[in-house]
Amino acid sequence: MSIKASSYTEGVTIQEVDRDRFARLTTIQVGHKSLITPNFLTRLSSHSELRLFMTLKNDFDTKRLGGVVVRFTDARRVLPEKSKLQQLDLNNKVAKDRFDLFLENNLLIIDPATEYLYYNYEMGEFQSNPHTPRIFLDYLDEVDRTKAKKHSQRVRSAKRSLHLTFWRDVAKDDKLSIPLVKQYFNYQQSLDSDILLAPVPFINASELLPVAHKMNHIGSQLAKGRGQFASYYIVASELLANMSFMEDLKNSLMDGNRLVFLKFKGLDLTRPEREVEADNFKDFMETISYISKESPQKAFCLLETGHQLYPSAVYGFDIVSSSMNGYDSDGGFTDEHPTYGAWRDYQSMTLRKHSDVIGEFGANHGNIPCPCYVCKNTRNFEDMSLGEWNEYRRLHNTAVPDLWLGEIANAIGKRQTELARDKLVRSRVKILADLIPRS
Ligand SMILES: [Zn+2]
Repeated sequence: MSIKASSYTEGVTIQEVDRDRFARLTTIQVGHKSLITPNFLTRLSSHSELRLFMTLKNDFDTKRLGGVVVRFTDARRVLPEKSKLQQLDLNNKVAKDRFDLFLENNLLIIDPATEYLYYNYEMGEFQSNPHTPRIFLDYLDEVDRTKAKKHSQRVRSAKRSLHLTFWRDVAKDDKLSIPLVKQYFNYQQSLDSDILLAPVPFINASELLPVAHKMNHIGSQLAKGRGQFASYYIVASELLANMSFMEDLKNSLMDGNRLVFLKFKGLDLTRPEREVEADNFKDFMETISYISKESPQKAFCLLETGHQLYPSAVYGFDIVSSSMNGYDSDGGFTDEHPTYGAWRDYQSMTLRKHSDVIGEFGANHGNIPCPCYVCKNTRNFEDMSLGEWNEYRRLHNTAVPDLWLGEIANAIGKRQTELARDKLVRSRVKILADLIPRS
């Protein structure tokens, strides 16, 4: 017995409900679930984060937290096993547990996370995961053999060329690409993912963009009759400096798919030396904003936004996503390295160290200087144990974007989107205000 088929309806519809110049509000319908935008999808990396997120949704009036993103490499750590969901109740109907009920109103996206076929950080998870397709395992074996043979300074270029050759070979051969996409879709569907994303190459060389097109095209064909589909591009953020690549990427957004997901790996435009990348990212958002003005039924989602969460939700992107712990760069703080993790500052818009937060606000008689609904319901700011702090600040780190996006939506509704830009000007990441037009 399948528990997912009953309420399944096909299709994504996007309706623009309001607009102020370059910024807009929409309603996005994905099957039977709907989101209001701007919307924030929370990336989860552990089962305890899933439990916390469900608590947040249950206890508070969250307006713009439409669902969760789980990477392929994190899925085993985050999601409950299917068998636990399918126990029968006394009436011989499938018993609905808490997670099942949660999925009725929250979007679940499984990110193929194929960048970790290139980055070492999660390569081991690909190698040990029983759902990893055979051709990925064979490819990773070859990467291991190359690493063992080459001197360290040659490994990087050898890996780059292996990566390029592997993906080009996959895209050329339907006997490889079609089963690969099918296998990923089967896995995503087995987890009740709401939007199917094809396994696309991590684009760290411009030659891989046509391969991403091909995989997205195959995905859109194979998704017909199966479920909702979105195009997906995972791009190395260094490529933002490559003008001709960025032109090609912009042109690819005009493909037939209504929803487009993007991830610029390691995006950090707060660094002064990233001026060219920042200019090109702004130009990119301008293009997206133009496309969605001309074709209001198209929408764009930026995954792993890092510091760019706020400006990208104002300009260009309808949906943004970042992790629950606040870090989007690999190797950030995780449960495996217990420490007092960082706190998203509503006002300064930065991630702040625990010691700095306590140092600055500790004398405030325990009053937390944050207007979010989590902080309003939290006491004993200073005396929290490590575990209490890390639970509290994950909830708070998720509530703050919810608040920010609500404020952006209000500003758009009042035709005062410049107020959103002003908020960035007053923050400690004011360099990012340049990403948003002045009028
Ligand atoms: Zn707060």
